[in-house]
Amino acid sequence: MKVLVLGAGQLARMMALAGAPLNIEVIAYDVGSKSVVHPLTQQSYDHTLASAIEDVDVITAEFEHIPHDVLDVCEASGKFLPTTDAIKAGGDRRLEKALLDRAGVANAKYRLVGSRQDLDEAIRHVGLPMVLKSALGGYDGKGQWRLKTQDQANAVWEEMAAFLAETEGQAIVAEEFVPFNREVSLIGARDKKGNVSVYPITENVHVDGVLNLSTAVEGNQSVQQQASEMFSAIADALGYVGVLAIEFFDIDGKLLVNEIAPRVHNSGHWTQQGADTCQFENHLRAVCGLPLGNTNLLRPTAMINILGEDSVDNAVLKQTGAHVHWYGKERRAGRKMGHINVCAENTEQLTLSLKTIAAYLDESAFPALPR
Ligand code: AMP
Repeated sequence: MKVLVLGAGQLARMMALAGAPLNIEVIAYDVGSKSVVHPLTQQSYDHTLASAIEDVDVITAEFEHIPHDVLDVCEASGKFLPTTDAIKAGGDRRLEKALLDRAGVANAKYRLVGSRQDLDEAIRHVGLPMVLKSALGGYDGKGQWRLKTQDQANAVWEEMAAFLAETEGQAIVAEEFVPFNREVSLIGARDKKGNVSVYPITENVHVDGVLNLSTAVEGNQSVQQQASEMFSAIADALGYVGVLAIEFFDIDGKLLVNEIAPRVHNSGHWTQQGADTCQFENHLRAVCGLPLGNTNLLRPTAMINILGEDSVDNAVLKQTGAHVHWYGKERRAGRKMGHINVCAENTEQLTLSLKTIAAYLDESAFPALPR
């Protein structure tokens, strides 16, 4: 089988690595340069988007901010999975919120804001403090404002008005501030027949809106069940095929959906070493019409994101159960450069192992690690 992935970043790279043992060849379309490239070497193929679409069996995506004209030609080929609607919902918070309401899953109260009057109406409806998020192009906490008190409303509106004027079709979603205890996500896969298989939930630590540390968590039956039910409701509403990630706020054991990612996800990278079948392989299995692989946790596992660093001490590689994954990207401040999966025999050993590894990593670059 041959799969074209829209997007040529680390997620396409890791799909290519996971597909090789199954004889699934992955090629990638770099949306920025509009070229079809090898997902590992980034070398260009002698392909246009149209000829690549013709050449492959399946088309899928590794990110949601894809121009709609590209999605439309892929859709027209009849080869695109999960669904272009799912990708569009992942890339536009207005569509995403409408989807969550349609699927009947709990999410933060919200209002759309396009004018100063709308902002007042949103303050009345969702209350203060609130989080204001750009509808388009928002990820990793980018394009967000916090409004704590009424007297900040004018200043925040001025900033947002300038922002809205920059991009056509842009909008703001005002959301209640959720006093969560922790953030968790659920990664799962749905196949062409509608069978669903989910991984254990992942507990995530974000710093400045960016994921730093993910830990697979087993044993919280109620939270796992809520997450699994919401996963099925959303995946079924979309007629989804492939891996889908859902991020939640956990408020005293009750989950609210924060957002969805219609693709493999950073908080699922631990599955490469910690689960029977990793998320990248399961995504490819689903879209290629193969049976889903088992999603059981093999052993306690965590993932450390490497942000803005292009090397780690060799002592990290020597640590039992530690696996370093580099993305082959040029170093830039804060950029996702790679990750470290850390596995252990039990949760106490996992914490110890994370502390041992943390001793070799700069605290300012790895602020979420236990020390
Ligand atoms: P997002 O891009 O929506 O995932 O937001 C980035 C981060 O901002 C989240 O991981 C949360 O830590 C925080 N955040 C987003 N929305 C809210 C909210 N409604 N209430 C409280 N914190 C939030």
